Amino acid sequence: MRQLPELAELVIANRELAFQNEEKERRLAELVIANRELAFQIEERGRLTTELNNLAFYDTLTGLPNRRLLVDRLRRAFAASQRGGQDGALMYIDLDKFKDLNDTLGHDFGDLLLQQTAQRLESCMRKNDTVARLGGDEFVILLEDLGQQPIEAALQAKAVGDKILAVVNQPYLLVTHEYHITLSIGATLFSDHATSAEELLKRADIAMYQAKKAGRNTLRFFNQKMQDVINARTSLEDDLRKALESQEFQLYYQIQVDNLHRPFGVEALIRWIHPDRGLVSPAQFIPLAEESGLILSIGKTVLETACSRLKAWQQDALTRDLILAVNISAVQFHQAEFVAEVQSLVQSHAIIPTRLKLEITESVLLKNVESAIATMSALKDIGVRFSLDDFGTGYSSLQYLKRLPIDQLKIDQSFIRNIATDNSDKAIVCAIIAMAHSLDLDVIAEGVETDDQRQFLLDKNCTHYQGYLFGKPEPIEQFEALLRHG
Ligand code: C2E
Ligand code: MG
Ligand code: MG
Repeated sequence: MRQLPELAELVIANRELAFQNEEKERRLAELVIANRELAFQIEERGRLTTELNNLAFYDTLTGLPNRRLLVDRLRRAFAASQRGGQDGALMYIDLDKFKDLNDTLGHDFGDLLLQQTAQRLESCMRKNDTVARLGGDEFVILLEDLGQQPIEAALQAKAVGDKILAVVNQPYLLVTHEYHITLSIGATLFSDHATSAEELLKRADIAMYQAKKAGRNTLRFFNQKMQDVINARTSLEDDLRKALESQEFQLYYQIQVDNLHRPFGVEALIRWIHPDRGLVSPAQFIPLAEESGLILSIGKTVLETACSRLKAWQQDALTRDLILAVNISAVQFHQAEFVAEVQSLVQSHAIIPTRLKLEITESVLLKNVESAIATMSALKDIGVRFSLDDFGTGYSSLQYLKRLPIDQLKIDQSFIRNIATDNSDKAIVCAIIAMAHSLDLDVIAEGVETDDQRQFLLDKNCTHYQGYLFGKPEPIEQFEALLRHG
């Protein structure tokens, strides 16, 4: 049995311990609270910093970058471009008669329109582009990575500008009010000798006033020469649209011969005979037709005409065996209906399919080699032939060459031109001919103009020839007359 004082001491010690534990817990709780408070304060500070940042760099009404952020990005982009990078463009945008809206429906509606416009502008941008709001009804767009060529950069900027004009021209719904507005755009290129980001902004602003002066709802470039180039292209594109309806396209025919000078084939080459411009070369309008999608209708007409020609030739002993080569653009080739379209033309015209040869370039293979091979194989199965045009100028990957169901390599005329004097051209041509032979393909040289060129090619075992030496591209009547009378 313990003594009483001993017990009392134990009780006291126990209480002391309990008290100490309680104290520890209390202090722990206090620490937890203090900790939470600290975390909250840190979070709050972060939130405030972000908010301040947003206020400093973003426009509160639209959430777009403000002038400060834009100028910062513009300076960087301009400097990078000056260091030899890609060209870029700056576009200054001002809504037309925005004041009318504020005056009639009030500022709340004005704000709504600005917010919706900001969204519409953003929808026209690519990943690296910037749309900023400078204030009021003024926006600025910064386009980067527009390539190395100023004309190319201007055309891309123009395309973005056209998209913006179209998107903003759609009616707005402001609560219950339908509203229509337009805008004016001034554009300038980085490459156009500006010395600073600020000067670029000034130039785009000046160009924007030109757009206003020109009647609003349009885009103007700061550089008049650039504007002239763009105008010329736009008017060519307008004419191109009309040309199909007015049947201004015609096929010319150029003879192809074998090594004994015997005609075996013909290439159909399109010509545009414009009422005022005269004869427009395909090099001028085919790229434009490809960009605008018009190449699909043009290509279809060319194929139709070619098939009717083959049909007519089949009735005549002189022309019965000729193979007609038709140029096919990559855009046309990659259309989902292309195989069906060719098949149906071959059937409806009842032509011998092996008399039709499609000339494609390596650009066809760039987009999707597997689908290109599938398309070619499907047409090859019905007998249609293929030639690889402008061979040697593209990527000429030997890896895919052996897998392509082609019949012919067509040596690009740039190698033939100086074949008599240029040793590397000689070497390239010899290599292409040898390669064609070992892959069991036909080989044709294009652009053969002189006897010397022909003799060199003949010595290297080239099997087929095309060029002014044998005949220029001619309208059908002249072509057939030449064929008949030599
Ligand atoms: P391509 O298919 O490589 O056609 C050969 C070009 O060389 C033709 O130019 C032809 O007129 C020209 N040529 C032929 N022999 C000689 C020669 O001895 N010397 C020189 N200096 N040139 C010669 P063209 O007719 O101006 O056509 C240019 C390009 O336009 C064609 O190059 C082809 O890529 C495209 N093209 C022509 N017609 C069509 C078509 O109907 N559809 C498509 N998608 N493209 C076409
Ligand atoms: Mg061709
Ligand atoms: Mg060619």
